[in-house]
Amino acid sequence: MAVASKFSRRFFNNPFPLFSFHFSSSTASSLPPPIRVALTDSVGRAVFATRSIAAADLIHTASPAVCHPSSARPACYACLASLPHSQPLRSPFCSQHCHQRSKGYYDVEMNANWVAFDDYCGTRGLKYPFLVKRLVCMVISGDARSDTLDILQPANFTPEMVSEMEEEFVLLKSAFTKALIGDEHIAFLTKQWYINVLARIRINAFRIELAGGPYEDLLSLAVASVEAEAAVGNAVYVLPSFYNHDCDPNAHIIWIDNAHAKLKALRDIDEGEELRICYIDASLDRDARRELLFRGFGFQCNCHRCLHGD
Ligand SMILES: [Zn+2]
Ligand SMILES: [Zn+2]
Repeated sequence: MAVASKFSRRFFNNPFPLFSFHFSSSTASSLPPPIRVALTDSVGRAVFATRSIAAADLIHTASPAVCHPSSARPACYACLASLPHSQPLRSPFCSQHCHQRSKGYYDVEMNANWVAFDDYCGTRGLKYPFLVKRLVCMVISGDARSDTLDILQPANFTPEMVSEMEEEFVLLKSAFTKALIGDEHIAFLTKQWYINVLARIRINAFRIELAGGPYEDLLSLAVASVEAEAAVGNAVYVLPSFYNHDCDPNAHIIWIDNAHAKLKALRDIDEGEELRICYIDASLDRDARRELLFRGFGFQCNCHRCLHGD
């Protein structure tokens, strides 16, 4: 997420552009998305509309930089599409396409023994170390750069939090070392790197819940309810992470079939208006929202709704 210490409703006329989109083709389908990311004085990075956008319009789509399925529900290793409960664990892919495109990092992961790491994180309910593990596999296979997430805003960790990560880091690193992956391939995997990546994942990861009917039948719906876990996994994106938060947002991020995200307008948006999404459940009351945002994302929400006691 972008730095979000203070929110106001004012529009920014001359924010410094950080990114612009250049496409050579003039066909409608390849037009650049109607947004720009800019640096503001008050809220850090923010996303602005470069033209008016109508309610319910698709603003842009986004593929995850890194994603990982949850352990509670069977989901595709590569894209997090729901898999039938009956699909054998030996084939954790929704399609040949997903198998092919993730083969490199899947093979790296399958070459190592994850029992100790998975057990450590699983019993403590830790989700984000699995995203780091996935990213390490992608870096080793050449599918991602080790600095992929550096552009994102990091969380502030206390020394106590950092020391709690020691064990999971040691287990992660030793899984790769024992798999006889050469030092030259994992030279980047230092404790400092691990902490830096986790700090970015901590406040930028999205919990993926599919809108396109995640349950193929009533039985799996019942099972999922008992497990109280509707998410198919977690994912980190670059562009969607630049959207600031608002408890009464003008945009939202949705997932239909898999982790490929869609950013959509919730209402008519003017050219130059900042686009914001809600990081949390907007139906919570003001105190609950502010508490969650402060604990989870480290900022006091001063959006219009919060300031007016709604
Ligand atoms: Zn898939
Ligand atoms: Zn708010």
